[in-house]
Amino acid sequence: MVDLYKDVKYIKGVGPNRVKLLNKIGIFTLKDLITYYPRTYEDRSKPKNLYECQDGEEVFVRAIACSRLSDIRLRGRTMQKLLIRDETATAEAMWFNQSYLKSKFEQGKEYGFYGRVSKKYGKIELMSPQFDEGNSTKNTGRIIPIYPLTYNLSQNNLRKIMENGIKEVYGNLEETLPNYILDEYKLEKINKAVKDIHFPEGFNDFNTARTRLVFEELLSVQLALLELKNRYMNEEKGIIFDKNVKISDVINSLPFKLTGAQRRVLEEIEGDMESDKTMNRLLQGDVGSGKTVVAMCSAYKAVKSGYQAAIMAPTAILANQHLENFRNILEKFDIKMELLISGITKKKKEDILQRLENGEIDIIIGTHALIEDNVKFKNLGLVVTDEQHRFGVKQRSKIASKGNNPDVLVMTATPIPRTLALILYGDLDISIIDELPPNRKKIETFAVNKNMTDRVNAFIKKQIDEGRQAYIVCPLVEENEEMDLKSVEKLYETYKTEVFPEYKVEYIHGKLKQKEKDEIMDRFKKGEIDILISTTVIEVGVDVPNSNIMVIENAERFGLAQLHQLRGRVGRGEYKSYCILKYEGKGETVRKRMKVMCDTNDGFIISEKDLELRGSGDFFGTMQHGLPEFKIANLFEDMQILKVAQEAAIKILSKDPKLENKENVLLKRLIRDKFQKRIEI
Ligand code: ADP
Ligand code: MG
Repeated sequence: MVDLYKDVKYIKGVGPNRVKLLNKIGIFTLKDLITYYPRTYEDRSKPKNLYECQDGEEVFVRAIACSRLSDIRLRGRTMQKLLIRDETATAEAMWFNQSYLKSKFEQGKEYGFYGRVSKKYGKIELMSPQFDEGNSTKNTGRIIPIYPLTYNLSQNNLRKIMENGIKEVYGNLEETLPNYILDEYKLEKINKAVKDIHFPEGFNDFNTARTRLVFEELLSVQLALLELKNRYMNEEKGIIFDKNVKISDVINSLPFKLTGAQRRVLEEIEGDMESDKTMNRLLQGDVGSGKTVVAMCSAYKAVKSGYQAAIMAPTAILANQHLENFRNILEKFDIKMELLISGITKKKKEDILQRLENGEIDIIIGTHALIEDNVKFKNLGLVVTDEQHRFGVKQRSKIASKGNNPDVLVMTATPIPRTLALILYGDLDISIIDELPPNRKKIETFAVNKNMTDRVNAFIKKQIDEGRQAYIVCPLVEENEEMDLKSVEKLYETYKTEVFPEYKVEYIHGKLKQKEKDEIMDRFKKGEIDILISTTVIEVGVDVPNSNIMVIENAERFGLAQLHQLRGRVGRGEYKSYCILKYEGKGETVRKRMKVMCDTNDGFIISEKDLELRGSGDFFGTMQHGLPEFKIANLFEDMQILKVAQEAAIKILSKDPKLENKENVLLKRLIRDKFQKRIEI
């Protein structure tokens, strides 16, 4: 058997420099290497006739060198040209600054070329093609994997390293799925699957390999989630909250009427709370759908039944906002609430910890500070975490462990299509608020091109002169934080000095300390900043009712679900609100996506469309969620496999709930590998 955990530096072709590059893309061990899957593949298996080549397409051709390579000097650089021909036409292969190629070609010999075609007036050129001599298939003549690369590592280099890695493991990998599952679901064996996902002979092999690996990945997640759910259910009984505590007392005191959806989810929650089952419920609802009051009513129920409640928010500013809202509604019911964040003084903190432990505080609202070891409760009965994707399962269970089987409510504004949510959050019951409070003004959304910039700026000025505030968000440019930072800074400079010199402009980005971020958000909230320029870090859920414009630069680079989240930052006050999507590019898909945003404010419709238009790789990639990362599965395209994997998981666990049977040893190992990671988030 092969040691999958050995350092990549021992793989042939990996020198000290390459090790560093590989480490940068997360490859440390042989296992990391062979599970670093291609982003896509190029079919270089079938050669094309030169005559058929179209302008702009990438082609594989087999052709004979019919000249020597000429090396031409051009202002500071060199250009290499080689005349080639096949039976149908002649063409010119061109490179820049690669004089060393001279020795690579011999007149009259045949080569395989792969490159982009430029075809003008019938003249065919191949731009910087990769090539192989004779029938060699290093770069051409087969299906070539294309890997995601961010850093200074070329496809060629990585491909070579991968070949060596695969050579080491092929035939030596221990099967990871039990035989009975391989048989029942007709899955490819691990050795062949791993080889074929990188270097398939043909697309059939690729497909069977991929299906197997996707199935394995999804099955392990499903097993892990379902096992967790079983564990909750089998745990000792949960708290039975008092049936006589009527949350209608709170509801009747509200300045508005609850929506039907809010009433429905509250019934679901009350049902859980009054039963002896421990609640583990996900509350999903679009931005502005009114999740906070639902949390308040649940907390009220817990407190009036004699328990304490903890509300955990991802940032101090959100925690503060919750406290304000909670006090407004619940203080009159003689409920004592406090804030616990890391920013408070030591003395105050000690006082709060003391009173919390004595049971003098009914509801504690806070950040991560709540899960510290010194935070103790008298009798914690309910835990609510807001904006769930910021917290890992571990944090959730850590706070829950401070009580004796407390009920847990997890709130999220991330709209995920229901079918998907049911599967992804397999460990939680789900309630959905699918209705916005009435009279919610639609956020007027416009998609504009670059040439509208002046008008957009004039519009922003006009709104600010009327007393409003604006957000300007710029996208992640690369998977490279430094570059992103530069782009925000540049944008900030331009806006501050050239476009809006007479206004108070600030910027905020992910690299700032949480405290600095909170401070800026706080000043924005107080109206001390007119225009806030930001990367996508603008705090989820922060309420600044006076800001009514959201400008999104390069909107084409965002996922729709994310655009929707960002748009939800405005439209929270009495003012008519606007979202301006500045986009570049004329592609059909870009236009369609912008149109979706302009046409609807419904997060669920948007998320369905987003999945449809982009595929789930991007969809989940940009969404920050508390789920394990999928290395190979694509939750949209692989919906079918997901269903099969879920059925399989249910079947397996119904026969062997704790995976204790000998035949399931491998499955147990699989979920331990997968789940350990998730728990550690
Ligand atoms: P989110 O679900 O995004 O957390 P919030 O709970 O912050 O939304 O609610 C957004 C706003 O809508 C708040 O100002 C809240 O008071 C208000 N709100 C909540 N429910 C209703 C309702 N049924 N009718 C009118 N306004 C409501
Ligand atoms: Mg909220």
